[in-house]
This record gives sequence, C-alpha cells and structure tokens, in this order.
Amino acid sequence: MDEIKHYIGGKYVSGTSGRTADVYNPATGEVQAKVPLASADELNAAIANAKAAQPLWAAQNPQKRARVMMEFVRLLHRDMDKLAEALSREHGKTIPDAKGDIIRGLEVAEFCIGAPHLLKGEFSEGAGPGIDMHSVKQPLGVVAGITPFNFPAMIPMWKFCPAIVCGNAFILKPSERDPSVPNMLAELMSEAGLPDGILNVVHGDKEAVDGILDHEDIMAVGFVGSTPIAEYVYTRGCANGKRVQCFGGAKNHMLIMPDADMDQAVDALIGAGYGAAGERCMAVSVAVPVGEDTANRLMEKLTPRVEALKIAPYTAGDDADFGPLVTKEAETRVRGYIDAGVKEGADLVVDGRDFKMQGYENGYFLGGCLFDNVTKDMSIYKEEIFGPVLSVVRAQTYEEGLDLAMSHEYGNGVAIFTRDGDAARDFASRINIGMVGINVPIPVPLAYYTFGGWKRSGFGDLNQHGPDAFKFYTRTKTITSRWPSGIKDGAEFSIPTMG
Ligand code: NAD
Repeated sequence: MDEIKHYIGGKYVSGTSGRTADVYNPATGEVQAKVPLASADELNAAIANAKAAQPLWAAQNPQKRARVMMEFVRLLHRDMDKLAEALSREHGKTIPDAKGDIIRGLEVAEFCIGAPHLLKGEFSEGAGPGIDMHSVKQPLGVVAGITPFNFPAMIPMWKFCPAIVCGNAFILKPSERDPSVPNMLAELMSEAGLPDGILNVVHGDKEAVDGILDHEDIMAVGFVGSTPIAEYVYTRGCANGKRVQCFGGAKNHMLIMPDADMDQAVDALIGAGYGAAGERCMAVSVAVPVGEDTANRLMEKLTPRVEALKIAPYTAGDDADFGPLVTKEAETRVRGYIDAGVKEGADLVVDGRDFKMQGYENGYFLGGCLFDNVTKDMSIYKEEIFGPVLSVVRAQTYEEGLDLAMSHEYGNGVAIFTRDGDAARDFASRINIGMVGINVPIPVPLAYYTFGGWKRSGFGDLNQHGPDAFKFYTRTKTITSRWPSGIKDGAEFSIPTMG
C-alpha cells in the first residue's frame, strides 16, 4: 500500500495528524494508497515555510521566474506518459483524456511565460507640474488553491502557475481522491528551478480547508469544486478579509436548432455528454432540441450512439470512450439520480445501470444513460448529476429553449448548434452564462482568455487564468512622485489636483 506524503519546503514529508483517507483505483475498487489528512498544525507549519521563502522569490526578476515556467513546460512534456498513467490510475479517465487534462494545464504554464510583459505597470510622465505617476503590480504573499478531483492536473496548474510566476508562494490543497499528480507537479516545479517553499502540497479535507480560510497569512484563495462548498469557502474566506474566487457546479445546456447539422450535433453531444463519464464541469448534461421534428430526428440518431458507447478501464487501450466513476460514493449518487428520474416520469431511453465490466466487477462502472421528455421540475434536470447521464428537454420554440438555459441556477457553459448566424448572435448576446459555444459543445476558453461561470457556478469577480489571473494574484500600488522642486514650498491643505 502506497503512503502518499505532503510536499512541503521542496521535500516529501509524512503526515503526522494520524488521519488518512483511502485512495482507490476506480477500475478495480481496490484501495491503492493512503493519503494523509493534514491537521491545522501541519498546515500552519507549511504556511510559515512559504511565508519565509516568498520575499526572495518575489525579488527575483520576472524573467527568471518565467524561465522556471519554461523549464516546467519542458518537463511536463518529458513526463507526459508517467503523469497520465498516474492520473488515470486514481481518477479512472482514459489515457488520452488524462493527457488532455495535463495539456490544458500546461497551456496555462505557457501563458505564464509571458509574465514579464503581463506584470508591466503604467507610467504617466508629467501627470502634474514636476509630477510623475506610476503603478506597479506586486504579489500578495502566500496564497492558496483548493481543487477538485475531476481535473487533478489542469486545475492545480491553473491556480499555481499564475500565482507563482507573479511572485507569490503557494499552498495547494488538492482533492484527497486523486492526490498523486499534484505531488508530481510540485516535484517537477522544483526540478525546473523553483526555490523550496514556494509551492507546497498539503493534503487534507475540511480541517485543512478551514485552516487555510482562517489563517491570517493566507492572502488569497482560489477554489474549484461543488457549489455548496464554493459558496462556503467564498463566504468564510471573504469574512476573514481574503481575496477569494470560487468556481462551482454546472448544468450545461446545448440547444439544437431545426437547421443544425444533426450528425455534427450528435457527435458533439456524445463527446461532451459522456466523455470522462460526465465528470466535467463543462460536460453537456441537458440537450434541448427546438421543435418536435428536431427532437425526433435527434433521438433517432443519438440513441444508437449512446447504446454503442465503449466503456473500459484506462489500461484497456486508447479507444475507450470513458472509464469508471471516481468512487463508489459517486457511483451510488449517480445511480440514485437515474432511479429518481425514472420515478419522476422521464423516459429512460438508454439504461446503463446494468452495465458490468467483465473482469472489473468491483470497479465503479456505469453505462451511458439517456433520458427523454425530461421536464423542469425533475431533480435530474435541476441538480448536477456529474455522471454519464444526458437529459433531453424538448422545447417548442427558440425562446423557450433560451429561457430554459437562462432560468437554470447554474451558468457555467452553454452551446447552440445552428447554421443561422442571426440565431447564434442573438443567443450569445442574450444568454446569462459565462462561456458560450456556437457549434462548439465544450467552449473551454484557451489559456490566454479567462475561464469562469456566472450565477451559482462562480463566486467572486475575476475569472481563472488569462489576464484575470494576473490581476487576482497581484495588487496594484500607485506611486506619485515629484522631482525635484516644490516639496519644500510649504504645506498644502487642500487635496492636490493635477490642474
Ligand atoms: P468538492 O466540492 O467535493 O471538493 C472540492 C474541494 O473541496 C476538494 O479539495 C475537497 O477536499 C474540498 N472539500 C470537500 N468538502 C469540503 C467541506 N465540507 N469543507 C471544506 N472543503 C471541502 O468537489 P469535487 O467532487 O472534488 O469536484 C466536482 C465538482 O467540482 C462538481 O460540482 C464540478 O462541477 C465542480 N467543478 C467546477 C469547475 C469550474 O471551473 N466551475 C471545474 C471543475 C469541477
């Protein structure tokens, strides 16, 4: 049995709290490792370490900090296979999908290589008589990231790469369900030249999270996970005076207009609905065909595709569509939703509940499920299922479909499939959702744009990665200077103006 350790001050340290959590292989159901759950004392020691290391790191010129990111990117490529294998072993996703998880994080590291440019301040010469004014962006100090299980490489990198390249020290509290890859990433950052203490991985649960939220030396917290925890972290962190951004759950709709290319729409739905077993915050979980005829054509093409989904453990090769769910608990929760959908009167057109993976009977496998005639009042529509379950809600008109997506409490991602530019423009303009796809089912913005949902999918006012991350992880100082005369002329009692 592997003992996973914390990574603090550039080295692995065993947990001392006496509390651990089991880490499973979701394909076999076996416990493959124990992860330590940090106590407040262990967390405090890591924060003290980070605080001591941060000033020297912040004093390095930004090009030197960017070079660490450059080397980190090279090392990620070097270790891609090893990282993907470790990721799939704990998460269950296929190897190609695990590589996608790593690469979408790596792309943020690439963006961070531009830090010297992105951290440039402003300067106004002669803002007043003999007066110059300039602004600088300074790091905050020690900041923290709390991340979910479903992207154990990408989301930690979305957090620590910009934070660190801005000159902060970082405490990462990754998901306790798949903790190995975050450790490996921290080791690679050390190998890339990051000084000890700047990136620390402290494993844990609520105790560690609360410790982060209450610690006076943590200046900012970035969280990604489910909405109730996002809201809790946001509220408690803000109450303690921290800068906080929290990204939560989702229920992403995809409208299929009567003029859509139906083959393209079905391909999109299959990938976006069932990839990673639906365990993606940008998964499409609600398909909204507009008009009865569109709905009938969609179901005719979609149903056989869902029936033919190929499910396998990651070890079975690269052509599987998806693997098991992450834990038994997740499997039980998703099965509970499917049962509830049937009870509430939706038509379960494809029932994946009896799917058994031969040779992996104890794994957390579930076949793809497809519901038709789902309505707004059903729990399978209202709540995030986070499994391989797609709900079809039939809308009679475009306005009805638009209103459906707009009325949902979540606002992470949304898509429209159409050949009509006017409908697409109207949709993108009016929708109250943060990330919009036009004939693109999973519109995850690239590293140089920003990622963030609206409504109850996001708390805080700045998005993740892109230019927003550089704002979130720095604070602006504005300096007004007067050279060389005037200061000795006497006191000024009215507020200075530049007139
Ligand atoms: P989760 O909320 O269970 O856990 C997220 C983090 O919070 C973990 O590090 C966990 O240890 C910690 N945590 C769990 N319970 C806690 C508690 N009671 N108090 C304090 N901390 C606690 O989420 P998850 O199951 O790991 O991830 C899936 C969720 O994340 C889904 O809802 C998904 O939509 C969401 N997600 C959102 C985005 C986004 O960008 N909006 C991206 C990925 C995942």
